[in-house]
Amino acid sequence: MQTCHACGAKLHWAQRWRSQWLADPIVCRTCGRIHDMRFQSKAVFIAVTILPVLLFNAFSTYENWIPVLTWGAFYIALVSLFTPFLLRYDLRPEPKKKDDGTPAEPE
Ligand SMILES: [Zn+2]
Repeated sequence: MQTCHACGAKLHWAQRWRSQWLADPIVCRTCGRIHDMRFQSKAVFIAVTILPVLLFNAFSTYENWIPVLTWGAFYIALVSLFTPFLLRYDLRPEPKKKDDGTPAEPE
């Protein structure tokens, strides 16, 4: 189970499910720190969801696209329920602050 790397709070399945589809970072609901999906996890997500459907489509013997689309959508919906358990996140470093606590200017 993925937890926040800063405070240890659980990162909920629904947050991770949404994050994988929107490629959004996850914000911890407890401490507000941001977690970015690792590049390898993005590759894993594509490899187990979209790639098999493209391969199935390429080698399909169906004469029309409706069964391919139906099975593809069913497969992706099913697999994406489990992919949040595979994906890993890294804590985004906090922005540097000046000594008085105000955020530093962008470089
Ligand atoms: Zn946290």
